[in-house]
Amino acid sequence: MKKFLIILIGSLAVLYLLLTQIAPDIVEKQQNPIAELAPYQVSDSVQVFYDSLTFIGDLHCDALLWDRDLTKHEDFGQVDFPRMQQANIAVEAFTIVTKSPAGQNFEENSADAFDNITLLNFAQGRPLSNWFSLFKRAEYQSGKLQDLADDYGDKFSVIRTKSDLEMLISKRASDPSYTGGFLGVEGAHALEGDFGNVDRLFDLGVRMMAPTHFFDNELGGSAHGISGEGLTEFGEQVIDRMNELEMIVDLAHISPQMIDDVLARTNRPVIVSHTGVDAVFDSPRNLSDEHIQAIAENGGLIGIAFFPGAVGEGGTPAIVQSMKHVRDLVGVEYIALGSDYDGSVLVPFDITGLTLLVEEMFKQGFTRDEIRAIMGENMKRFLLENLPE
Ligand SMILES: [Zn+2]
Repeated sequence: MKKFLIILIGSLAVLYLLLTQIAPDIVEKQQNPIAELAPYQVSDSVQVFYDSLTFIGDLHCDALLWDRDLTKHEDFGQVDFPRMQQANIAVEAFTIVTKSPAGQNFEENSADAFDNITLLNFAQGRPLSNWFSLFKRAEYQSGKLQDLADDYGDKFSVIRTKSDLEMLISKRASDPSYTGGFLGVEGAHALEGDFGNVDRLFDLGVRMMAPTHFFDNELGGSAHGISGEGLTEFGEQVIDRMNELEMIVDLAHISPQMIDDVLARTNRPVIVSHTGVDAVFDSPRNLSDEHIQAIAENGGLIGIAFFPGAVGEGGTPAIVQSMKHVRDLVGVEYIALGSDYDGSVLVPFDITGLTLLVEEMFKQGFTRDEIRAIMGENMKRFLLENLPE
């Protein structure tokens, strides 16, 4: 009997090890498809202009959720450090996802639904603490970005302060292959309802946080939740503390009532890290014209996402149409890239295909200055003004 048990446990352990070796790649490839694979071709004049951009930035990328080594150039996934260098990227926002309800949809999700990330973390063989704690997942992914940066020598830096960003900008002036990223959290359920965890996340390097993701939580209602409610008292406390710490509030995925409540409460400019606009593609996850105007009034920044759930089925032209709508409504200075790379979405191109986006922007009549602003100058200005000292 004892021998049988040893064989059973041994076999299960081997099977589990095998699962952690094979399953993550399969899931990842299936979850993060790319419509058109690299290499991407644009005209010489577009390429020359693209290469002349000194600051390209993107406000949303979920790559830390997955297991592939971001220091290696992979033939799957949508972002990694070598591809960021190849694409002339200055800064990418690495946003941390900690919980994803089974049957996730844009209309209505329950906080009690089975959590797919528990299963993913199990299959990835992530530390046991990650299986059961949302905060630990955020802690793990924060540490992972720093570990990857350390592995990558001095070519990638994690941005935590204004001076980190200034340093990166000055390094890029002599070596444009220098790149970096900052940490965000997608959904403040990662706090596990513990107010002290706001400071802990800040200490881990998190500089941006969205109150909710796909379901309602302790802070209030999600755009895809059930209650539709605004900020709770706990939510107000968290926003106030984020203001004090100079942690940027991200309005992506929160309910319309929450957008109003956060804008009324915060005394700092906000970001919408990845979104579309209702005027181009009507969806619960997208911004109404009223909210675009309110965010512009707040001095905020709107990252336009790249996937069909945000911009419709129109591919690259639809991304640019969404940008055009924001420009015509409030001005070009409020627009940034908000790809949602590696966010379990279909994108038209991986990060090395941003040249195609620039080509389309020219096609739709954007000026060089406008393209420069959207591709990263707006994000650079915003971060220099809003990151802590
Ligand atoms: Zn998202």
